[in-house]
Amino acid sequence: MTGILGKMACLQYREYCRLNKKSFAMIYISHPYIEERADRVYLISRLLDETHGWNEELWFSVAPEYRESLCEDYADSFLLLTLLPAIKSGQDIKVDAPISRRLLFNIRNTIQPIFARMMGKAQIRIEAEPSDAVLYHGKGVGCGCSLGVDSMSSFLRHFGQEGKDGYHVTHLTLFNSGQLGSHDLQSGCDNLIRSVERLKPFSDAVELPICAVDSNLNAYYIANGVSLLHSFVLRTCACAMALQKLFGNYVYASSYAVHQFEFSMYDASHMESAYAPLCSTENFNLILSNPDMTRVEKTDYIRRWAETPKFLQACWAEQVAYNVGHDTRFLEGKKKVNCGWCDKCKRTLLALELLQGDISMYEDQYDLEKYRAHRDEFIARVFREYTHNVFYRELRELILQKQMPLPPMAQEIVRRQKMKAALRSRAMKMFMLCKKICRRFLHV
Ligand SMILES: [Zn+2]
Repeated sequence: MTGILGKMACLQYREYCRLNKKSFAMIYISHPYIEERADRVYLISRLLDETHGWNEELWFSVAPEYRESLCEDYADSFLLLTLLPAIKSGQDIKVDAPISRRLLFNIRNTIQPIFARMMGKAQIRIEAEPSDAVLYHGKGVGCGCSLGVDSMSSFLRHFGQEGKDGYHVTHLTLFNSGQLGSHDLQSGCDNLIRSVERLKPFSDAVELPICAVDSNLNAYYIANGVSLLHSFVLRTCACAMALQKLFGNYVYASSYAVHQFEFSMYDASHMESAYAPLCSTENFNLILSNPDMTRVEKTDYIRRWAETPKFLQACWAEQVAYNVGHDTRFLEGKKKVNCGWCDKCKRTLLALELLQGDISMYEDQYDLEKYRAHRDEFIARVFREYTHNVFYRELRELILQKQMPLPPMAQEIVRRQKMKAALRSRAMKMFMLCKKICRRFLHV
């Protein structure tokens, strides 16, 4: 790397590292370039991550019709992707290409401090040239569309009457950025192809094109050990930003309502309202969608659209099998698009049942037989675990609000919880009484 930094600069850098007790290793990002390979077009940057021994291409690929949408003037996407691995390993970043002025400022000023605090690490130095020299004026509005509750409510918010103000969705997007399979590169790519196939009927119905982005970014994250929960938002933003010649605006579906904000060391989505809109450039504006809605409110919003039962796909069977503990139970004997008994299916169906009573219109897409077999056990779980699960908390509130009769298992849990609360209250009263007596007679 002496060639890049120069001898003097290298010595200065070593002195800086010594003073700041940092590693000498760095991450180098080359100027992005575009190449056609087989039937895809690639946006590529050569990445050298000295700590993790990664000296390979980092790439995004799209279908040929999106060639002119790929942004090679700025290395914005690649900087977003390397930020967390750099913070985690204490490496500075040097970028051999301009970075959009707005994004670079936001990363240095807000995004990096939030993630450094979250990961319990020191902030790093980013060597890059800020620029706003090239403007694209992209007219496209992208919207992630996995057809789950979050993405469907985002789509409807920005596609219907409410969204006809220049920010209405023009493209449905699907990204292979980790959530489609994190165990190997090929399965992520295969899942992307399957997801595009699944989205086609919806795309035909709403008459919008699908823009699918493949990437090897997940392989890089496996190498550097930054989790999907830490990096989910930045990975998604990076994929969308790679197409900033097309997407002047991009609708990002919020995971939590803004009043559910919490500083989390494990899941950066809890804090998305603080930094997601800052993942923007002079050419690309990230819109955090539905920050005012909880998951139950989003479910209530989408169920009012007559077409929802035909398209809703809120199932975790694949992700649980491939990403979380390799648990294949929900995939075994799966008869419909939605398995009906993974946590996400049960959450969605229980909310729909509470909100509209009859859920038989979801029969074609969901295995309702499986849901009914596991429903009572799930309601008991909601009451047992609601204190540390925000979605269960919402469902519990809805159950109480709707005065739904509880199954015996849940009744027993509520009885025990009431008993524990009464004992706690009695113990507290005794403690306060003892304290009063001690103060009065013993002057303690
Ligand atoms: Zn499922």
